[in-house]
Amino acid sequence: MKKEMLTYDVAVIGGGPGGLPAALAAARQGMKVLLVEKNGYLGGNLAIGLPLLGYLDKDGNPIIKGIAQEFVDALAEKNATSPHHWCPNHNSVTIYDHEVFKIVAFEKCLEAGIDILLHTEVIDVNVDNGTIDSVTLFGKGRKIEVFAEVFIDATGDGDVGYMAGATYEMGQKGTGVLQPPTLMCTVAGVDTEEIIRFIEEHPEQMEMCKTHESYPGYDASYFRKNPDHHVLVGLRKLLAELKEQGKLPIDRDTIIYIQTLEKGVVNLNCTRHLGIDGSDLRDLTRAEIEGHLQNYALIKCLRENVPGFKNAHLTKIYPHMGIRETRRFRGIAQLTEQDVLSGRIGDDAVGLAAYIIDIHAGDGSGTICKKVPTYGLPYGITCSADIKNLMFSGRCASMDAVALSSARVMPPLMAIGEGAGVGAALAIKQGITPGEVDVQEVRAILRANNVMLEPDPDAKVMVFD
Ligand SMILES: Cc1cc2nc3c(=O)[nH]c(=O)nc-3n(C[C@H](O)[C@H](O)[C@H](O)COP(=O)(O)OP(=O)(O)OC[C@H]3O[C@@H](n4cnc5c(N)ncnc54)[C@H](O)[C@@H]3O)c2cc1C
Repeated sequence: MKKEMLTYDVAVIGGGPGGLPAALAAARQGMKVLLVEKNGYLGGNLAIGLPLLGYLDKDGNPIIKGIAQEFVDALAEKNATSPHHWCPNHNSVTIYDHEVFKIVAFEKCLEAGIDILLHTEVIDVNVDNGTIDSVTLFGKGRKIEVFAEVFIDATGDGDVGYMAGATYEMGQKGTGVLQPPTLMCTVAGVDTEEIIRFIEEHPEQMEMCKTHESYPGYDASYFRKNPDHHVLVGLRKLLAELKEQGKLPIDRDTIIYIQTLEKGVVNLNCTRHLGIDGSDLRDLTRAEIEGHLQNYALIKCLRENVPGFKNAHLTKIYPHMGIRETRRFRGIAQLTEQDVLSGRIGDDAVGLAAYIIDIHAGDGSGTICKKVPTYGLPYGITCSADIKNLMFSGRCASMDAVALSSARVMPPLMAIGEGAGVGAALAIKQGITPGEVDVQEVRAILRANNVMLEPDPDAKVMVFD
């Protein structure tokens, strides 16, 4: 097969929350950047109907700006986002239009001069003496070999790192069990007012399970105050009853729906697929098929049994399964559970995070949720410990399973990506590896670009009543 050859400074593989900011940050530092994406659009899970969680800390203070905030500002200009609304459960909820996001992503990449290859996958990684020489891409029956100084793996599953032979871990400590994936869908014709009324009359529907902390104020009064901007995780009692009666077609203890910008239209985050490794083709295929069938059956069940859903109908199943967790690669630093619980903000931080520990138990036993203080995202978690010119951005960066359950939401992953992009550019300019870069130089550039590296005591608390 004839092969085309391309040369770049930085090649970013994967155009989701990890990849987009990495590509933008490197390009804005003057690098010649290629962004490779297997879908026909950019965004990854930014385009599958989820809210953005994590711009605010547990008290409602802003903690994430930089490129992550730029996306929201660009969406706001197109009237396609809510502000960051404080939430007693999720700290913050930002609801946006996912189709407009795809447009904004293209606009930003074109503006930065990034070359984009869509419908293209990495099929081989050529490593020589601990360094990646090139990656082989494939699409439409053609191969392209890409040479670059630095490769940033932002594929979620870490496909580049895997093919390069980099060291990784999977699953919860001791068990190796992975958080299960979910196939998102959109449902129209939902009467959210009726759901809120039902919760008002039956407050026990918002009770949490044993492992999920209860958050005072995450009740009907919150939904009443935020009817247009909320994420509901609840209806546990009702689901348990339906399960007992054999009417529930999914193995799930709560309904999660996300109010979209359109009245009566919600996105469901509900399907459940246990024992799935999202980095395994056969498992992934099984989950995609199950996900379609489950969404259809669930909506029928909701229509027949759940207040507010009587006229609900399916309008969209998102184009790919959402994978919560697979490979986490070994970096020169690791973000740990202890860092998260203690709120460690080191002088190596390239961003902040404070989203709750949120583990969907892979054995089907519910969800483990716990509030955490604001903590720092160390630069070293993006630099491979094994391969000199390989970086990881997104959920495949170096974190333990518990730390990942908190840092995995999209705004902190965008912050990690921006740090990786700046680090890659500095490494290339100085003729060193990303792991040898002086983190203070990375931080100086990030700070100048409005990235938050420590909490701002004067920040305006953004609680919307
Ligand atoms: C069901 C579910 C619910 C969630 N809920 C929320 C939420 O409410 N709010 C929130 O902020 N976060 C949420 N998250 C977390 C968040 O969506 C993910 O952790 C985050 O998207 C991971 O970002 P990423 O860039 O690492 O991976 P992804 O978002 O998966 O992006 C990876 C990109 O790489 C591309 N790619 C993959 N392999 C290749 C390859 N070999 N070659 C080329 N391209 C490739 C993919 O097509 C994709 O575009 C949720 C996750 C899931 C699964």
